[in-house]
Amino acid sequence: MMPAAPAARVLVVEDEQNIRDLVLLHLRLEGLEGIAAADGTEGLRLARSERFDLVVLDLMLPGLDGMTVCRAIRRESSNGDVPILMLTARREESDKVLGLESGADDYLAKPFGVRELVARVRALLRRRRTASPVAATSPSVTVAGVTVDPARRMARIDGRDIDLTAHEFDLLYLLASNRGIVFSREALVQRVWGNDTHITVRSVDTLVKRLRKKLEDEAAEPRLILTVWGTGYKFADV
Ligand code: CA
Repeated sequence: MMPAAPAARVLVVEDEQNIRDLVLLHLRLEGLEGIAAADGTEGLRLARSERFDLVVLDLMLPGLDGMTVCRAIRRESSNGDVPILMLTARREESDKVLGLESGADDYLAKPFGVRELVARVRALLRRRRTASPVAATSPSVTVAGVTVDPARRMARIDGRDIDLTAHEFDLLYLLASNRGIVFSREALVQRVWGNDTHITVRSVDTLVKRLRKKLEDEAAEPRLILTVWGTGYKFADV
């Protein structure tokens, strides 16, 4: 008989006890191991000292807020590429979470249903198992003033570090290391997400939009990640 795989470990950082308990209960029912932190400082301490497969992180926390904790986790090498599901109080906050400022992979607006929570958790853990196409030992690439560094899974522009989510990093690395080469959106889905069947070509457009916001001076007039009309995307051949 095969030994049972160890349960995925999920760090839950949430100051409201009833929500924390609800999340922990449903993780347990899913066969996952939940580890709780009631504030950002404790959450970050745990993220710095232990390895997790997923972090569920409340945005509004006493002390260190969720955005600060999220950025700090991204910079920590031990959990730098962990999927992060951010809990937000309002829909409007979600744009900020998935936009420029944080490295969250997904968000859930409160109040949320238990089924939605479980679905998001499962989706993020599934993505996690689809190993990144970029190994930490891949060479770093510098093109048009942008350095893409697989060891740190970060980009650097004009001496400024840019935090990237796992998929943003994989897409940028693929394009930048093949500058001038056009990739179809279908090919990008395959290369970045592998066999995750929930992903459509629209996800590529969304991901490109987010990358441009982070990298380009003018997201509306990109000079790095270029659209090839009717075909897909390419990194500028400079
Ligand atoms: Ca809160």
